[in-house]
Amino acid sequence: MSERIVVAKFGGTSVADAAQLRKISTIIRSNPERRFIVVSAPGKRFPEDIKVTDLLLACYEKATAGESFAQELDQIRMRYREIVDGLQMVFPLNEEIRTLEESLLTNPERDYTASRGEYLTAKIMAQYLGFTFVDPAWCVCFDEDGQLNDAMTRRTMRASLLPLSRAVIAGFYGADMNGRIRTFERGGSDITGSLAACAVNADLYENWTDVSGLYAANPAIVENPETVSYMSYRELRTLSYMGASVLHSDAVLSASELEIPINIRNTNIPENPGTMIMRHLPSGVTKNPVTGVSGRKGMSLVQIEKVMVSDGSGFSALMLDILKERSLPFEYCLTGIDSITLVIRSDLLESCKEELIAEIRNTLHPDFIGLRGNLSLIAVTGEKATEASDANVRVLEKLTEEGIEISTINQGAGKLNLLIGVPEERYEDAIRAIYEFRQSISPSSK
Ligand code: ASP
Repeated sequence: MSERIVVAKFGGTSVADAAQLRKISTIIRSNPERRFIVVSAPGKRFPEDIKVTDLLLACYEKATAGESFAQELDQIRMRYREIVDGLQMVFPLNEEIRTLEESLLTNPERDYTASRGEYLTAKIMAQYLGFTFVDPAWCVCFDEDGQLNDAMTRRTMRASLLPLSRAVIAGFYGADMNGRIRTFERGGSDITGSLAACAVNADLYENWTDVSGLYAANPAIVENPETVSYMSYRELRTLSYMGASVLHSDAVLSASELEIPINIRNTNIPENPGTMIMRHLPSGVTKNPVTGVSGRKGMSLVQIEKVMVSDGSGFSALMLDILKERSLPFEYCLTGIDSITLVIRSDLLESCKEELIAEIRNTLHPDFIGLRGNLSLIAVTGEKATEASDANVRVLEKLTEEGIEISTINQGAGKLNLLIGVPEERYEDAIRAIYEFRQSISPSSK
């Protein structure tokens, strides 16, 4: 058996129907290193379709309200019937659906119900591939408060998986000490994949989805953006936090701790190498100084001025204490000689705006407090663009050339790690301008 271990996770669209499962089977069989397979529940086959997890949750809602859930359960049965028949399998689908129905009628539990999509998909996939089925209820351990117990999961998963030559593990759920099923947040099968990769100390964690990697900019704003071939964990975290969603951010954290490379791949175009996320760029690879650009609207700017804010009297610390007491997170905080600038999500600020300003006035006696809404925040990342590159300056020049007002700038040290505030109405223009700049300095465009 091959020494290298690859953990391959397949998302909802990759397991949406029998045809997709056949593609997965070809992908798995084309590389024997793909020993541990993690699957989501069937997702959408077309834009108006409903994900199986949503159908399951609808069953649960109806069951707890004492209403009939027969229609939703029937849709779920039909989704799996198409898969099982399409793969010409003999699978006890009716029994499985009956067990689910009974639980909904007698003792409906939200997490248990939501988890059945992954459970059934993994069971079917394991049988189809001839792999062992691993129920994460045995090895993904949650504490009673519903939080993942990382250390115990790593040990238990390692002990469960390593003796197996090949296995399919259901994503998205585990169980607590009492055996009660617990789920992660939505999109959590990515986390299961990452946990499995860490538990077996995989050489690679493949995340198979329906796009060929991470785009350098949002395709809803930029036409046909390039996919990024290589990026670091940190770049991915920044871009994902700022709205580029392809992988659950918790999944990135655990893989980056053990430096397990993550490869985002497209089940529908398996020959495309996708995006590789790793700490260090392989030697000989040249990277665009701007890895990507992403952003979010709905931000507000709070500006507090006082002469010599930074004189060591703890003004900034007091300001942050006020936010902490209110459990009000901020996107960033910049301290100048005479001012503090905070960027806060407008939806969080809205409900406590007046009280917050009054408290700042009473506690800190500032010379001026200004508040400005309708701001968007744009992140531009590029780990290779260190001191040697002037990409940061040129990004700002480009925005100025386009007549886009720069309301605030935060430049992290050493790397191209820019957070730029621009008015919401120029958000899309700004993303397009930065992307255009990125393409103009692309190593391949020279
Ligand atoms: N099936 C779950 C969801 O729809 C988890 C996942 O797909 O990762 O959110």
